[in-house]
Amino acid sequence: MSAQVETHILSGKEVAKNVYAHLNSRIKEAKSNGVVPGLAAVLVGEDPASQVYVRSKTRKFNKLGLHTETVCFPADIAEEDLLAEIRRLNDDSVFHGILVQLPLPREFDSGKILSEVSPEKDVDGFHPVNLGRLAAGTPRFIPCTPKGILRILQYFRIATEGKHVVVVGRSTIVGRPMSLLLSLKTPTGNATTTVCHSRTPDIGSFTRQADIVIAAVGVPEMITGDMLKPGSAIVDVGINRVEDDSEKGYRLVGDVEFDSVQGVAGAVTPVPGGVGPMTIAMLVENTVEAAEQWVSGEW
Ligand code: NAP
Repeated sequence: MSAQVETHILSGKEVAKNVYAHLNSRIKEAKSNGVVPGLAAVLVGEDPASQVYVRSKTRKFNKLGLHTETVCFPADIAEEDLLAEIRRLNDDSVFHGILVQLPLPREFDSGKILSEVSPEKDVDGFHPVNLGRLAAGTPRFIPCTPKGILRILQYFRIATEGKHVVVVGRSTIVGRPMSLLLSLKTPTGNATTTVCHSRTPDIGSFTRQADIVIAAVGVPEMITGDMLKPGSAIVDVGINRVEDDSEKGYRLVGDVEFDSVQGVAGAVTPVPGGVGPMTIAMLVENTVEAAEQWVSGEW
Protein backbone atom coordinates (compact mmCIF):
# COMPACT_ATOMS: atom_id res chain seq x y z
CA MET A 1 0.00 0.00 0.00
CA SER A 2 1.38 3.47 -0.88
CA ALA A 3 1.95 5.98 1.95
CA GLN A 4 -0.59 8.75 2.37
CA VAL A 5 0.50 12.23 1.34
CA GLU A 6 -0.24 15.22 3.56
CA THR A 7 -2.55 17.53 1.61
CA HIS A 8 -2.06 21.25 2.25
CA ILE A 9 -4.97 23.64 1.74
CA LEU A 10 -4.06 26.62 -0.44
CA SER A 11 -6.24 29.40 0.94
CA GLY A 12 -6.98 32.02 -1.70
CA LYS A 13 -8.54 34.13 1.03
CA GLU A 14 -5.16 34.37 2.77
CA VAL A 15 -3.39 35.36 -0.46
CA ALA A 16 -6.09 37.93 -1.26
CA LYS A 17 -5.66 39.53 2.17
CA ASN A 18 -1.97 39.92 1.40
CA VAL A 19 -2.77 41.49 -2.01
CA TYR A 20 -5.13 44.04 -0.43
CA ALA A 21 -2.52 44.96 2.19
CA HIS A 22 -0.14 45.86 -0.67
CA LEU A 23 -2.83 47.62 -2.72
CA ASN A 24 -3.86 49.95 0.10
CA SER A 25 -0.78 52.17 -0.27
CA ARG A 26 -1.22 52.30 -4.07
CA ILE A 27 -4.86 53.33 -3.61
CA LYS A 28 -3.78 56.05 -1.15
CA GLU A 29 -1.16 57.27 -3.62
CA ALA A 30 -3.73 57.45 -6.47
CA LYS A 31 -6.10 59.37 -4.23
CA SER A 32 -3.34 61.81 -3.25
CA ASN A 33 -3.04 62.52 -6.99
CA GLY A 34 -6.76 63.34 -7.00
CA VAL A 35 -7.78 60.06 -8.64
CA VAL A 36 -10.15 57.48 -7.16
CA PRO A 37 -9.73 54.26 -9.16
CA GLY A 38 -13.15 53.54 -10.68
CA LEU A 39 -14.83 50.49 -12.17
CA ALA A 40 -18.00 50.28 -14.25
CA ALA A 41 -19.68 46.88 -14.15
CA VAL A 42 -22.00 46.18 -17.06
CA LEU A 43 -24.77 43.71 -16.27
CA VAL A 44 -27.17 42.57 -19.00
CA GLY A 45 -30.27 40.54 -18.11
CA GLU A 46 -31.36 38.93 -14.87
CA ASP A 47 -29.09 35.91 -14.43
CA PRO A 48 -29.03 35.39 -10.61
CA ALA A 49 -25.44 34.03 -10.53
CA SER A 50 -24.18 37.05 -12.53
CA GLN A 51 -26.00 39.39 -10.13
CA VAL A 52 -24.30 37.67 -7.18
CA TYR A 53 -20.85 37.90 -8.83
CA VAL A 54 -21.24 41.60 -9.68
CA ARG A 55 -22.49 42.38 -6.16
CA SER A 56 -19.54 40.63 -4.50
CA LYS A 57 -17.07 42.46 -6.78
CA THR A 58 -18.61 45.91 -6.25
CA ARG A 59 -18.93 45.29 -2.48
CA LYS A 60 -15.16 44.82 -2.34
CA PHE A 61 -14.55 48.03 -4.32
CA ASN A 62 -16.80 49.97 -1.94
CA LYS A 63 -15.08 48.47 1.09
CA LEU A 64 -11.70 49.65 -0.22
CA GLY A 65 -12.99 53.19 -0.84
CA LEU A 66 -12.87 52.82 -4.62
CA HIS A 67 -15.47 54.13 -7.02
CA THR A 68 -17.82 51.67 -8.67
CA GLU A 69 -21.10 51.74 -10.51
CA THR A 70 -23.15 48.85 -11.87
CA VAL A 71 -24.89 49.70 -15.10
CA CYS A 72 -27.83 47.33 -15.66
CA PHE A 73 -29.57 46.68 -18.96
CA PRO A 74 -32.54 44.48 -19.83
CA ALA A 75 -31.79 41.23 -21.68
CA ASP A 76 -33.60 42.56 -24.74
CA ILE A 77 -31.48 45.72 -25.14
CA ALA A 78 -30.57 46.20 -28.82
CA GLU A 79 -26.96 45.33 -29.61
CA GLU A 80 -26.33 48.81 -31.06
CA ASP A 81 -27.61 50.44 -27.86
CA LEU A 82 -25.38 48.25 -25.67
CA LEU A 83 -22.36 49.09 -27.84
CA ALA A 84 -23.21 52.80 -27.55
CA GLU A 85 -23.44 52.50 -23.74
CA ILE A 86 -20.00 50.86 -23.64
CA ARG A 87 -18.57 53.68 -25.79
CA ARG A 88 -20.11 56.16 -23.32
CA LEU A 89 -18.30 54.40 -20.45
CA ASN A 90 -15.06 54.38 -22.50
CA ASP A 91 -15.33 58.20 -22.69
CA ASP A 92 -16.19 58.69 -19.01
CA SER A 93 -13.00 59.59 -17.13
CA VAL A 94 -14.53 58.55 -13.77
CA PHE A 95 -14.03 54.92 -14.85
CA HIS A 96 -10.53 53.51 -15.31
CA GLY A 97 -11.84 49.98 -15.73
CA ILE A 98 -14.90 48.45 -17.38
CA LEU A 99 -16.08 44.91 -16.89
CA VAL A 100 -18.83 43.23 -18.86
CA GLN A 101 -20.24 40.44 -16.70
CA LEU A 102 -20.30 37.13 -18.55
CA PRO A 103 -22.14 35.14 -19.71
CA LEU A 104 -24.17 37.63 -21.74
CA PRO A 105 -27.66 36.50 -22.79
CA ARG A 106 -27.33 33.99 -25.66
CA GLU A 107 -28.56 36.45 -28.32
CA PHE A 108 -25.41 38.57 -27.95
CA ASP A 109 -22.12 38.08 -29.75
CA SER A 110 -19.86 38.27 -26.66
CA GLY A 111 -16.72 38.76 -28.78
CA LYS A 112 -18.22 41.81 -30.46
CA ILE A 113 -19.39 43.35 -27.17
CA LEU A 114 -16.05 42.73 -25.40
CA SER A 115 -14.16 44.21 -28.36
CA GLU A 116 -16.01 47.52 -27.85
CA VAL A 117 -14.43 48.05 -24.42
CA SER A 118 -11.41 50.32 -24.76
CA PRO A 119 -8.28 48.09 -24.39
CA GLU A 120 -6.93 50.66 -21.87
CA LYS A 121 -9.98 50.08 -19.63
CA ASP A 122 -10.24 46.33 -20.24
CA VAL A 123 -9.39 45.26 -16.68
CA ASP A 124 -10.75 41.76 -17.33
CA GLY A 125 -8.15 41.33 -20.09
CA PHE A 126 -10.65 39.83 -22.57
CA HIS A 127 -10.20 42.34 -25.42
CA PRO A 128 -8.51 40.69 -28.44
CA VAL A 129 -5.71 43.29 -28.26
CA ASN A 130 -4.97 42.36 -24.64
CA LEU A 131 -5.25 38.61 -25.31
CA GLY A 132 -2.89 39.12 -28.25
CA ARG A 133 -0.42 40.98 -26.07
CA LEU A 134 -0.58 38.15 -23.56
CA ALA A 135 0.17 35.61 -26.30
CA ALA A 136 3.08 37.79 -27.46
CA GLY A 137 4.53 37.80 -23.96
CA THR A 138 3.93 41.54 -23.39
CA PRO A 139 0.70 41.56 -21.37
CA ARG A 140 -1.11 44.73 -20.27
CA PHE A 141 -4.08 43.37 -18.33
CA ILE A 142 -3.90 39.68 -17.47
CA PRO A 143 -7.34 38.02 -17.08
CA CYS A 144 -8.14 38.02 -13.37
CA THR A 145 -8.67 34.29 -12.70
CA PRO A 146 -5.43 33.01 -14.31
CA LYS A 147 -3.52 35.93 -12.78
CA GLY A 148 -4.94 35.05 -9.36
CA ILE A 149 -3.96 31.40 -9.81
CA LEU A 150 -0.34 32.34 -10.54
CA ARG A 151 -0.33 34.47 -7.38
CA ILE A 152 -1.62 31.54 -5.30
CA LEU A 153 1.15 29.31 -6.66
CA GLN A 154 3.76 32.02 -6.06
CA TYR A 155 2.55 32.76 -2.53
CA PHE A 156 2.72 29.10 -1.51
CA ARG A 157 6.08 28.66 -3.30
CA ILE A 158 4.83 26.13 -5.82
CA ALA A 159 7.28 26.59 -8.68
CA THR A 160 6.13 26.17 -12.27
CA GLU A 161 9.56 26.22 -13.93
CA GLY A 162 10.37 22.86 -15.49
CA LYS A 163 7.13 21.38 -14.16
CA HIS A 164 4.43 19.65 -16.17
CA VAL A 165 1.16 21.52 -15.76
CA VAL A 166 -2.08 20.10 -17.10
CA VAL A 167 -4.83 22.67 -17.64
CA VAL A 168 -8.26 21.08 -18.02
CA GLY A 169 -10.46 23.54 -19.92
CA ARG A 170 -9.63 25.95 -22.75
CA SER A 171 -12.07 28.87 -22.33
CA THR A 172 -10.94 32.37 -23.28
CA ILE A 173 -11.59 33.44 -19.69
CA VAL A 174 -9.59 30.82 -17.80
CA GLY A 175 -8.05 27.80 -19.55
CA ARG A 176 -6.48 29.39 -22.62
CA PRO A 177 -4.88 32.45 -20.96
CA MET A 178 -3.78 30.15 -18.11
CA SER A 179 -1.94 27.82 -20.48
CA LEU A 180 -0.36 30.79 -22.29
CA LEU A 181 0.87 32.33 -19.03
CA LEU A 182 2.35 29.05 -17.85
CA SER A 183 4.28 28.58 -21.09
CA LEU A 184 5.73 32.13 -21.16
CA LYS A 185 9.44 32.55 -20.52
CA THR A 186 8.88 34.16 -17.12
CA PRO A 187 9.50 33.23 -13.47
CA THR A 188 5.81 32.28 -13.09
CA GLY A 189 5.86 30.41 -16.41
CA ASN A 190 8.52 28.15 -17.93
CA ALA A 191 6.24 25.14 -17.48
CA THR A 192 5.60 22.34 -19.92
CA THR A 193 1.92 22.83 -20.52
CA THR A 194 -0.76 20.39 -21.67
CA VAL A 195 -4.30 21.57 -22.36
CA CYS A 196 -7.19 19.09 -22.11
CA HIS A 197 -10.80 19.76 -23.13
CA SER A 198 -14.07 18.05 -23.96
CA ARG A 199 -12.56 16.23 -26.96
CA THR A 200 -9.60 14.84 -24.99
CA PRO A 201 -9.96 11.09 -24.49
CA ASP A 202 -8.93 9.67 -21.10
CA ILE A 203 -8.09 12.93 -19.30
CA GLY A 204 -6.76 10.92 -16.34
CA SER A 205 -3.89 9.64 -18.46
CA PHE A 206 -2.70 13.26 -18.73
CA THR A 207 -3.48 14.50 -15.21
CA ARG A 208 -1.66 11.48 -13.71
CA GLN A 209 1.54 12.80 -15.32
CA ALA A 210 1.09 16.34 -13.99
CA ASP A 211 2.99 18.10 -11.21
CA ILE A 212 0.24 20.74 -11.18
CA VAL A 213 -3.37 20.32 -12.37
CA ILE A 214 -5.58 23.33 -13.04
CA ALA A 215 -9.23 22.31 -13.34
CA ALA A 216 -11.46 24.84 -15.13
CA VAL A 217 -14.24 22.79 -16.68
CA GLY A 218 -17.52 23.61 -14.93
CA VAL A 219 -18.28 19.91 -14.30
CA PRO A 220 -18.91 19.20 -10.60
CA GLU A 221 -16.18 17.07 -8.97
CA MET A 222 -14.87 15.75 -12.28
CA ILE A 223 -11.24 15.45 -11.15
CA THR A 224 -10.90 12.66 -8.61
CA GLY A 225 -8.01 11.42 -6.46
CA ASP A 226 -7.31 8.42 -8.73
CA MET A 227 -6.60 10.86 -11.60
CA LEU A 228 -3.66 12.47 -9.80
CA LYS A 229 0.03 11.84 -9.27
CA PRO A 230 0.73 11.60 -5.52
CA GLY A 231 2.06 14.91 -4.20
CA SER A 232 0.84 17.05 -7.10
CA ALA A 233 -0.74 20.49 -6.58
CA ILE A 234 -4.35 20.97 -7.65
CA VAL A 235 -6.02 24.29 -8.40
CA ASP A 236 -9.80 24.05 -8.50
CA VAL A 237 -11.36 26.88 -10.51
CA GLY A 238 -14.87 25.44 -10.74
CA ILE A 239 -17.85 26.96 -8.97
CA ASN A 240 -20.82 24.67 -9.48
CA ARG A 241 -24.21 24.69 -7.79
CA VAL A 242 -25.33 21.20 -6.84
CA GLU A 243 -28.87 20.76 -5.53
CA ASP A 244 -29.24 19.45 -1.97
CA ASP A 245 -31.68 19.39 0.97
CA SER A 246 -30.29 22.53 2.63
CA GLU A 247 -32.35 25.66 3.19
CA LYS A 248 -30.71 27.31 0.15
CA GLY A 249 -31.49 24.25 -1.93
CA TYR A 250 -27.95 23.91 -3.23
CA ARG A 251 -24.30 23.79 -2.23
CA LEU A 252 -21.21 24.99 -4.07
CA VAL A 253 -18.68 22.43 -5.26
CA GLY A 254 -15.62 22.71 -7.44
CA ASP A 255 -14.45 20.74 -10.47
CA VAL A 256 -12.34 18.63 -8.09
CA GLU A 257 -13.72 15.98 -5.74
CA PHE A 258 -12.23 17.57 -2.64
CA ASP A 259 -12.52 14.53 -0.33
CA SER A 260 -11.01 12.00 -2.73
CA VAL A 261 -7.90 14.11 -3.44
CA GLN A 262 -7.07 14.28 0.30
CA GLY A 263 -4.07 12.08 1.00
CA VAL A 264 -3.11 12.03 -2.71
CA ALA A 265 -2.60 15.68 -3.72
CA GLY A 266 0.21 17.56 -2.02
CA ALA A 267 -1.90 20.72 -2.08
CA VAL A 268 -5.37 21.79 -3.18
CA THR A 269 -7.37 25.01 -3.35
CA PRO A 270 -10.76 24.84 -1.58
CA VAL A 271 -14.13 25.87 -3.01
CA PRO A 272 -15.21 28.33 -1.78
CA GLY A 273 -12.23 30.30 -0.46
CA GLY A 274 -9.69 29.33 -3.14
CA VAL A 275 -9.55 30.88 -6.60
CA GLY A 276 -12.74 32.97 -6.20
CA PRO A 277 -11.37 35.58 -3.74
CA MET A 278 -8.24 35.93 -5.89
CA THR A 279 -10.27 36.66 -9.03
CA ILE A 280 -11.80 39.64 -7.22
CA ALA A 281 -8.45 40.74 -5.77
CA MET A 282 -6.92 40.74 -9.26
CA LEU A 283 -9.84 42.76 -10.63
CA VAL A 284 -9.12 45.38 -7.97
CA GLU A 285 -5.39 45.25 -8.77
CA ASN A 286 -5.99 45.63 -12.52
CA THR A 287 -8.31 48.60 -11.90
CA VAL A 288 -5.74 50.28 -9.65
CA GLU A 289 -3.12 49.61 -12.36
CA ALA A 290 -5.42 51.18 -14.99
CA ALA A 291 -5.84 54.28 -12.81
CA GLU A 292 -2.07 54.50 -12.33
CA GLN A 293 -1.52 54.23 -16.09
CA TRP A 294 -4.09 57.01 -16.59
CA VAL A 295 -2.35 59.24 -14.02
CA SER A 296 1.04 58.69 -15.65
CA GLY A 297 -0.41 59.58 -19.04
CA GLU A 298 0.22 56.14 -20.55
CA TRP A 299 -3.15 56.37 -22.33
P1 NAP B 1 -16.46 27.29 -20.03
O1 NAP B 1 -16.35 28.53 -20.84
O2 NAP B 1 -17.76 26.55 -20.04
O3 NAP B 1 -15.31 26.31 -20.49
C1 NAP B 1 -15.22 25.02 -19.99
C2 NAP B 1 -14.07 24.29 -20.60
O4 NAP B 1 -14.06 22.97 -20.07
C3 NAP B 1 -14.18 24.15 -22.11
O5 NAP B 1 -12.90 24.30 -22.69
C4 NAP B 1 -14.71 22.73 -22.31
O6 NAP B 1 -14.22 22.09 -23.46
C5 NAP B 1 -14.12 22.02 -21.11
N1 NAP B 1 -14.98 20.91 -20.70
C6 NAP B 1 -16.31 20.92 -20.43
N2 NAP B 1 -16.73 19.69 -20.08
C7 NAP B 1 -15.64 18.89 -20.13
C8 NAP B 1 -15.42 17.52 -19.88
N3 NAP B 1 -16.42 16.70 -19.50
N4 NAP B 1 -14.18 17.03 -20.03
C9 NAP B 1 -13.17 17.84 -20.40
N5 NAP B 1 -13.30 19.14 -20.64
C10 NAP B 1 -14.53 19.66 -20.52
O7 NAP B 1 -16.14 27.57 -18.50
P2 NAP B 1 -15.14 28.62 -17.81
O8 NAP B 1 -15.70 29.99 -17.94
O9 NAP B 1 -13.75 28.36 -18.24
O10 NAP B 1 -15.31 28.19 -16.28
C11 NAP B 1 -14.97 26.90 -15.82
C12 NAP B 1 -15.42 26.76 -14.37
O11 NAP B 1 -14.74 27.73 -13.60
C13 NAP B 1 -16.91 27.02 -14.12
O12 NAP B 1 -17.34 26.20 -13.04
C14 NAP B 1 -16.95 28.47 -13.70
O13 NAP B 1 -18.07 28.76 -12.89
C15 NAP B 1 -15.68 28.57 -12.92
N6 NAP B 1 -15.08 29.90 -12.84
C16 NAP B 1 -14.65 30.29 -11.62
C17 NAP B 1 -14.03 31.49 -11.48
C18 NAP B 1 -13.52 31.88 -10.12
O14 NAP B 1 -13.26 33.04 -9.89
N7 NAP B 1 -13.34 30.92 -9.23
C19 NAP B 1 -13.83 32.34 -12.57
C20 NAP B 1 -14.26 31.91 -13.82
C21 NAP B 1 -14.88 30.67 -13.96
P3 NAP B 1 -14.56 22.58 -24.96
O15 NAP B 1 -13.73 23.80 -25.19
O16 NAP B 1 -14.16 21.46 -25.80
O17 NAP B 1 -16.03 22.87 -24.96
